[in-house]
Amino acid sequence: MKKPLALHWKIIIGMALGIVWSLLSAQFGWSTFTLNWIKPFGDIFLNALKLIALPLVLFSVIGGIIGIGNPQLLGRMGGKTLGLYLVSTVFAVTLGLVLVNLFKPGENEDVKNRLQYELWANTNEIAIKDGKCFACMEENQALVLEVEAFMATQEISDEIQGKLKTKEETQAGGPLRALVDIVPSNLFDAFVKNSMLQIIFFAIFFGLASLYIPEKEGKIVKEFIHAINEVFLKMIDFIMLLAPYFVFALMAGVLTSIAGDDFSAMLAVFEKLIYYCIVVLLGLLAMIFIFYPLLLKLFTKDFNYKEFFKNIAPAQSLAFSTSSSAATLPVTLEVVEENLKVSKKVSSFVLPIGATVNMDGTSLYQAVAAIFLAQFHMIDLSLGQQLTIIATATLASIGSAAVPSAGLVMLMIVLTSVGLNPAWIAIILPVDRLLDMVRTTVNVTGDATIATLVDKTEKHE
Ligand code: ASP
Repeated sequence: MKKPLALHWKIIIGMALGIVWSLLSAQFGWSTFTLNWIKPFGDIFLNALKLIALPLVLFSVIGGIIGIGNPQLLGRMGGKTLGLYLVSTVFAVTLGLVLVNLFKPGENEDVKNRLQYELWANTNEIAIKDGKCFACMEENQALVLEVEAFMATQEISDEIQGKLKTKEETQAGGPLRALVDIVPSNLFDAFVKNSMLQIIFFAIFFGLASLYIPEKEGKIVKEFIHAINEVFLKMIDFIMLLAPYFVFALMAGVLTSIAGDDFSAMLAVFEKLIYYCIVVLLGLLAMIFIFYPLLLKLFTKDFNYKEFFKNIAPAQSLAFSTSSSAATLPVTLEVVEENLKVSKKVSSFVLPIGATVNMDGTSLYQAVAAIFLAQFHMIDLSLGQQLTIIATATLASIGSAAVPSAGLVMLMIVLTSVGLNPAWIAIILPVDRLLDMVRTTVNVTGDATIATLVDKTEKHE
């Protein structure tokens, strides 16, 4: 009998068919049908994954801590995990900066334009902050207007408006506000707000406390948490059986809501941004295919390049199609434990934290995007400003929620930190979803890599 096709291949086929459908849909004017009758199944899939993600984080972090058992060991592992996450993120931002400075995707080579702009900028500081384009940059001006008009028609703009508000609220609370926000005053509120960090805080606290209760009760808690985790994993198995069909609906829906019935109009807007995309993609692909394998090759004995990708393919393909590390987390946990053979003890602690704080793809993209936007507006950033970008992109990626477009919203913080206009995110918005898909794949691959490294070093000691 023929072996059934592996799940990741089915997901990839579903994705490809979804893309083909969206093209046909644009060509033949089926977008209303696609949005009404196909896209909802993609939304159902995302909802189901998100439904499981938060309680899974809660129970798997508690389970992870109880599994480690010894608070001292936990401290050491926690330190190692966060250290490795930080190193890989700083590497990713630096790689992004090097690439964008090398290829200069936003640079306008017209010297006359540049001189005119500089003269204009010197005499008109406010307008730079406004982020409006100028008579001497007609081409860019036309593009920005086109992009803004396009943005107005997108549902994503509402979504981003909503996120903007929360960002403003956060900034209003003083320097320690972010710290205060990690501690929830009400666990249910943390669930309602989808706050992974607050849930992780509660889980670590709960897990630690349960290490200090009498052995008899401790055993009951341990078994209870273990049993609940098993149920969640089964739920994921059930959802994943249908994943290829859902992914088809997801891709068809996402692309159709971007392109509508007019794909060629979209492509015209994209043209100027293609070079920028290529540079971001170059960096992201280098992370996936060179950096992580190299790390694993250097620090683990039995690394096999092909096997590694075969093993994590289900998580990568899901990250690509959902653009959310949080929604992918259940599957990341499964493949890292079962295929990469990382102990449950390590994976259930390292991965949920990684999904929230470790976003190498996001930080790389933020660095490239910030410099691209500066180049696009003919602004040279000094070395000091570029170093500031390393720091803020690292922090912004840590602060980004593991959901679609979060990195784009946090990019505003990076832009503000070097005096650029946060509203410029509108310019790159049309191509953001594609980049989001790939950077989420990097984020998830990074988490899996670090989990493997932590596991290997723990075993050797
Ligand atoms: N979508 C990304 C993630 O969930 C975050 C981002 O927007 O960069 O990992």
